[in-house]
Amino acid sequence: VCAYGVAMNRVIKVLKPALSGRKGIDRGRALVTGGAGFLGSHLCERLLADGYEVIALDNFHTGKRYNLASIARDASFTCISHDVVDTLPTDIVVDEIYNLACPASPPHYQADPIHTFKTSVLGAINLLELARRHNAKIFQASTSEVYGDPLVHPQPEGYFGNVNTHGPRACYDEGKRSAETLFFDYSRTYGLDIRVARIFNTYGPRMQPDDGRVVSNFIVQALRGDDITVYGSGTQTRSFCYVDDLIEGFVRLMRSPTAPKHPVNLGNPGEFTVMELAELVLDCTNSRSRIVHRPLPVDDPRQRRPDISFAEQQLGWKPKVPLSEGLAYTAGYFEALLGRRQPGTSR
Ligand code: NAD
Ligand code: UDP
Repeated sequence: VCAYGVAMNRVIKVLKPALSGRKGIDRGRALVTGGAGFLGSHLCERLLADGYEVIALDNFHTGKRYNLASIARDASFTCISHDVVDTLPTDIVVDEIYNLACPASPPHYQADPIHTFKTSVLGAINLLELARRHNAKIFQASTSEVYGDPLVHPQPEGYFGNVNTHGPRACYDEGKRSAETLFFDYSRTYGLDIRVARIFNTYGPRMQPDDGRVVSNFIVQALRGDDITVYGSGTQTRSFCYVDDLIEGFVRLMRSPTAPKHPVNLGNPGEFTVMELAELVLDCTNSRSRIVHRPLPVDDPRQRRPDISFAEQQLGWKPKVPLSEGLAYTAGYFEALLGRRQPGTSR
């Protein structure tokens, strides 16, 4: 039973009727791997609202069953507990696949680096094979981490990156780079319709309080009155995108009539130092927490900012939610989650 009081037996429904091979209602059937995670749960909600039948597949490593509470009772929704590293159930029949399965927070993806790498690589192969079997369109959640510690700023899609192949972040960065390779090779070899998004730091409701990424860490620390832990001097930069904006980008990329010939950056170009983020969080939570400094993790990228010209011009997409606003919504969510007021994830 979760914080929202939803038992999992209500979330996992009998799979057979949903997976029997009949075509999905209205827009078809979409599979979302990593569907119980932060981004995946928002995507499932959006696809259901758009008229898809949705199957979430997750191993619940960082995903939570309560992220699916709002859609658990929807007749068009099914949730499967499965690891993408393992051979997929043979009775899944789908029209579209969104591959989001992978821990995204450095402490989580570094906890079992070999499994993280397998998740990206074997997961991509398993899902690309599924797409091949059903001639399904397939989307890959890639990452700005493919740019590593970038020497070109801001980062356009044509930049090949500056990644350490053997450091502690490599399991994630190189796994995601390999997955991009597999997606484009499957597309060239088998004519698959692929869409690859390079996602820059995204935040919002349904991040886990113990996720370890900077926005959730700072907000939770501020709400609890704990010290705000800035790693290093805090002069490193990131560009933070609110989750609703990102999900709109996913959908536009997936539905664009022609498949882009390369991965597409999706992120908010507003660039902030980590110190600036800490100050914004203190402001929006009215917190009196102190800012303290902790050692900078190995290979922590010094700067990050997406060049989103392609998405703007070809998908008509750009983020709308300013950081201060998005932080306030997210802080509201965490206040509720930590038991300080009624839950809700909408703005
Ligand atoms: P998250 O950790 O909340 O979600 C990941 C989900 O995948 C979780 O539900 C987890 O349980 C599941 N998962 C992990 N390994 C799996 C496996 N082997 N088999 C099945 N399920 C597995 O993270 P998120 O922020 O929602 O990220 C979703 C995707 O987007 C990831 O692929 C991540 O790399 C990518 N991404 C996210 C961001 C971001 O800022 N949020 C940035 C770049 C890329
Ligand atoms: N960071 C920080 N304090 C924290 C967590 C992260 O200063 O409690 C820093 C981290 O060193 C990095 C930035 O915030 O420079 C973004 O970290 P995150 O883990 O969110 O994402 P990533 O490094 O993968 O972009």
